[in-house]
Amino acid sequence: MQIKELGEFSFINSIAKDTIFDAETVKVGIGDDCAVYTSQEDMDQLITTDTMVDGVHFSMQFMRPYDIGYRLMAANISDIAAMGGTPKQVVISIAIPKDQKVDDLQGIYDGIKSHCREYNINLIGGDTVATSGPLILTATVIGEVKKDQAVLRSKANIGDWVGVTNTLGLAAVGLDVMAYDADGYFAAKAAFQRPKAQVKLGHLLRSRGVSAMNDISDGLASELQEIAKASRVHIIIDKNSMPYHKDTLEWGEERGIDPIEFALFGGEDFQLVFTVNSEEKEKLEEHPLITFIGRVIDKEPGLSLFTSEDEEPEIINETGYKHFES
Ligand code: ADP
Ligand code: MG
Repeated sequence: MQIKELGEFSFINSIAKDTIFDAETVKVGIGDDCAVYTSQEDMDQLITTDTMVDGVHFSMQFMRPYDIGYRLMAANISDIAAMGGTPKQVVISIAIPKDQKVDDLQGIYDGIKSHCREYNINLIGGDTVATSGPLILTATVIGEVKKDQAVLRSKANIGDWVGVTNTLGLAAVGLDVMAYDADGYFAAKAAFQRPKAQVKLGHLLRSRGVSAMNDISDGLASELQEIAKASRVHIIIDKNSMPYHKDTLEWGEERGIDPIEFALFGGEDFQLVFTVNSEEKEKLEEHPLITFIGRVIDKEPGLSLFTSEDEEPEIINETGYKHFES
């Protein structure tokens, strides 16, 4: 069935079930002019929004509807994780082409709701409109963090260490593997199709007093440049200490691409990158999912890559993208 046969109100009714996973914080969910939710006094509120356009940020043609909903939520929740916060509520706006299949829309909402279930987020509202253009999805997530404890980009200190969670570049490898229609590499494909926001590690890192943090949505290079610029510091990272999944190493070998390219410029890993002082670094080093890859130094704001004692560290800028053109 197409959306124009079902109609807006029946569509909203069909997605309005199974939307509340933390009932204590919602007074009114889907169905009124506004949702009404409560928050705790000792918390600051976080809000973030992301829009995805069919053909630009995702593809109805090549991706499963469930995965599209999943990514939309992961991108937003990852922003909350990067502040050290907890996602609580979400509203979804959707602009739908008239001939859109209802099953696919339901699939997208299944992907959205699986995140709601997993993180106890309430889907408390949204908006539905028709469009003569492509399908557009917008999620706005409301989260919370202990008062005055949100981790910003702008507070990295000279002498801090730079750490990351899990591995780097795996989602970009997954996308490349899929573009080549290669078998295997299941972890890489999953990292691209069903990315996981690092909420728990975000909490841990905030509780250890990390000085600055970003989620890696545009590649490590871009995220570190943002921290360096906002904090007015220079960051130097060591090419030899990057954490890679074995899929990344094997695919890099097969394609003749240095894995550092996937890490620096790949994007959409939704891992966390942070800076922290020496004392906490020593303790965090023991954590199996955390790797230290660099330092914050007193030089003009920017990013550079150390390769070996024999070479000058290379200044990293956006030109790295050219490596993906082959
Ligand atoms: P209004 O005219 O007051 O904006 P709507 O008819 O647009 O109300 O929406 C009715 C209810 O359904 C509201 O609670 C709204 O938040 C919710 N809603 C509308 N579209 C969506 C959507 N795409 N996803 C989730 N909730 C939605
Ligand atoms: Mg409306």
